[in-house]
Amino acid sequence: MADLDLVVSGNLVLPDRVVEDGYVAVSDGVIREIGEGAPPAAKESYDARGKYVLPGVVDGHVHTGSQNPPEGIARSSMAAAAGGVSTIIDMPYDDVGPIVDAELFRAKVGVVEREAHVDVGLFATIRKEDGVKEIPGLVEAGACAFKFSTYESHPARFPRIKPIDMLDAFKAAAPTGVVCGVHNENQEMVDFLVSKIQEEGRTDPAAHGLSRPPIAEALAMAEIYELGAAANCRAHVVHCSIPRGIEICESYKKQGVKATVEVCVHYLTIDEDDMIRVGPFGKINPPIRPREMVEAMWGHVAAGHIDFVSTDHSAWPRDVKSNPNIFKNASGAPGLEALIPALYTGCEQRGLPVTTVAKLICEGPAKHFLLYPRKGVLAEGSDADMAILEPGRFVFDAAKTVTSADWSPYDGMEFNVRIAGTFVRGKLVWDGNKVLAQPGDGQFLKPIL
Ligand SMILES: [Zn+2]
Repeated sequence: MADLDLVVSGNLVLPDRVVEDGYVAVSDGVIREIGEGAPPAAKESYDARGKYVLPGVVDGHVHTGSQNPPEGIARSSMAAAAGGVSTIIDMPYDDVGPIVDAELFRAKVGVVEREAHVDVGLFATIRKEDGVKEIPGLVEAGACAFKFSTYESHPARFPRIKPIDMLDAFKAAAPTGVVCGVHNENQEMVDFLVSKIQEEGRTDPAAHGLSRPPIAEALAMAEIYELGAAANCRAHVVHCSIPRGIEICESYKKQGVKATVEVCVHYLTIDEDDMIRVGPFGKINPPIRPREMVEAMWGHVAAGHIDFVSTDHSAWPRDVKSNPNIFKNASGAPGLEALIPALYTGCEQRGLPVTTVAKLICEGPAKHFLLYPRKGVLAEGSDADMAILEPGRFVFDAAKTVTSADWSPYDGMEFNVRIAGTFVRGKLVWDGNKVLAQPGDGQFLKPIL
């Protein structure tokens, strides 16, 4: 094959099997050939023999701008590169203001084009009142998903969309094919319990979980899928932490409803007992659950009931994650650099193959956000996005991460793999030690409608 720019040799993770001693041949940022044995000649070669070559990861749930001060597209996308994540899908709840119309959306695309180190797709959302009319314009501008919430943490920045308005929003989104992702917690139940538990004097890390019980999540999930059924819209739950939630989604899928469910990697890794150790660093909504629920979630992973796994990455500054009163801390944690190590290790410990990892963080999210097969798979014609996974024993060290947060709930945990390299469209953006990409190397991605 003439004029190849790059060949990468290693154990290729394809959708259904691993090709030992395979190669990926690349020109102009696109995969031209996949094969076994001696690779063809190319201008550059990258030797990943003995390592896995995973398709570049698509993290479908990243908050680059939801914090105050925000981590920002530039730094978050550097952390993505370091984590083997070649595409991030960014949430619309930016602290400067949510992305609720086409003009704001296009302004954010401009930031992506100037600052991104990896490729970026964007969520949009709507105002609490009278926002549905903006949906067609947001799709036209390139939104690859919408995000709504059944729970309000701020009336402008993160509002609750009432069921009657959510139904209208779902009806407006349905004909576009773009998915509606929803935060799943019941407002009245959580607000009541947060007050009650604080009145009882509880401020310890476990009190956070008690204030947001599984039933509050399950109720919201049933509401979301029922609205999806009524609107014939793709209805998605953006972070399910409970096995009952997965079962609710399965029941709707079996009825032919366009229901999907996402699990964040922390719900598969950390449990309530860990909360004693990590304290407010593990404060996340919905909360971290007991070990038996974590293991039941893995049963659903093995059964293929989970559409994809994400991070909900949110790099809060340390000073809003250090209050001894759990209720006085921000919710959320950075995850971009832990996603592959934690998921890979969890799968390996339970006898699940590395192809499951690719399905959950490459193919699954790429299909969900209508980016497949450009993203999410090692195949001829796809973008040459790859994560190079080096097996071994590695202790996760938050002090060495690239994200602006200098803490992590995974700090000190031992994982069975590290990210030795990351390619975005044939360019090495992470060499295992440092980010090589420049701001603006990343591209804005529109969904394939
Ligand atoms: Zn989130």
